[in-house]
Amino acid sequence: MTAQEVLDLIKRNQIEMVDFRIVDVPGRQHHVTVPAVEVDVEMLENGIAFDGSSIQGFRGIEESDMVMRPVLESAYVDPFMAAPTLGLMCTVYEPNGTRYERDPRFIAEKAEKFLQDSGIADAAYFGPELEFFLLDDVRYDSSPSGAFYAIDSEEAFWNSGRGGEANLAYKVKNKGGYFPLPPTDTQQDIRTEIVKELMKAGIRVERHHHEVATAGQAEINFRFHTLTKTGDTVMMYKYIVRQVARKYGKVATFMPKPILGDNGSGMHVHQSLFNGNQPLFFEEGQYGNLSALARHYIAGILSHAPALLAFANPSTNSYKRLVPGFEAPINLVYSKGNRSAAIRVPVAAVTPKSARIEFRTPDGTANPYLAFAAMLMAGLDGIERKLDPTQLGFGPIDKNIYELSAEEKASIQNVPGSLEEALDALQADHEFLLRGGVFTKDFIQNWIDLKRSSEVQPLAQRPHPYEFHLYLDL
Ligand code: GLU
Ligand code: MG
Ligand code: MG
Repeated sequence: MTAQEVLDLIKRNQIEMVDFRIVDVPGRQHHVTVPAVEVDVEMLENGIAFDGSSIQGFRGIEESDMVMRPVLESAYVDPFMAAPTLGLMCTVYEPNGTRYERDPRFIAEKAEKFLQDSGIADAAYFGPELEFFLLDDVRYDSSPSGAFYAIDSEEAFWNSGRGGEANLAYKVKNKGGYFPLPPTDTQQDIRTEIVKELMKAGIRVERHHHEVATAGQAEINFRFHTLTKTGDTVMMYKYIVRQVARKYGKVATFMPKPILGDNGSGMHVHQSLFNGNQPLFFEEGQYGNLSALARHYIAGILSHAPALLAFANPSTNSYKRLVPGFEAPINLVYSKGNRSAAIRVPVAAVTPKSARIEFRTPDGTANPYLAFAAMLMAGLDGIERKLDPTQLGFGPIDKNIYELSAEEKASIQNVPGSLEEALDALQADHEFLLRGGVFTKDFIQNWIDLKRSSEVQPLAQRPHPYEFHLYLDL
């Protein structure tokens, strides 16, 4: 799309406001709005200035001037604003016109370029599956000393997403959300509305359904695409899910484990490599019909997994999901069909073109640009070093891993138990991310410092409600 075509779009849709958006380092979107009458070809091509010092993970106050420049193809007529508005995803530039090294989208683009330069494949496809909760009411204390969230009552939490009083007789049983028909499923219409908005935004939706958890858990799947494009889609998806939820008076959250004792929300990521039309992950007759190249890719992901999780599972809450018994992975192995493995090899209705691996640890608190780029770099490292998953102790294992004997379990490696552990692993293992300048040392160190100082430490310092239960009377 050219700048002129964007201007035509503005005219055709009688757009009044143009919304310039960027993604910060943790993965939140931010925006600046310009009246459409002020927008011209030059602004669309050169971008607009903003203050980078207020964006989490960007730079200090002493050198804060930055530029956001629209990705013209991302032009999107946004139906959620009162005034007709056009949304534009932007990339970030230094005032001197060079790309900003800490812009997550730039890292995603560099990872794709690195893949092409490697000669291994010309495209990597990513198909993330985002699960989320639609809750009726969540209140939390957001003051600096805020320690806990509260909902209006425990009953309300469990009934969350049930649509008020009308349907209480049709309760979703514990872990029974997957997937009875309405009236038990009270969220059909809201998911359908989300799907329609996603489609209007140009996203190809494949299906939607209620997920396993009781309190209104949902999943909406869209078609896989190349790395950076899929990062954009994830950002748009989260925006649309949240906006439609809000319209229905609900709160959508991608928090991995909002509720103790029920399933959490993951962002499993399906991945495959292609050369032109030729799929590189398929070989008939091998385990899971996987090619040797796919097995190397798996070994790359699993051997770097502890470090990778610092990007794929980057919140303190992430590790409350990665526990036994909730379809979330805890062990670093691969397996056909097995949902307790970190990597699942889908085998139902798979053709050479749809042959892929599903990395199951990631969750929706990941910045998709960074998580996908890191996964690709890990997989490519496995391919280049011809790593073998079996030799490295990564299976395949086709049993339910939650139920293995202690002896069998002893030989299997686990996912990190906390964000702190994952950050330590990243500190020790990040050379594979620096190749081709995809991630910079500065970016990795900034990420580790940011996560430690603004998430790990503040959480550790807070008295937790459960500590009152444990210690109040001691
Ligand atoms: N909600 C599960 C998770 O945490 C996954 C359920 C599924 O396999 O879709 O990963
Ligand atoms: Mg699911
Ligand atoms: Mg899945």
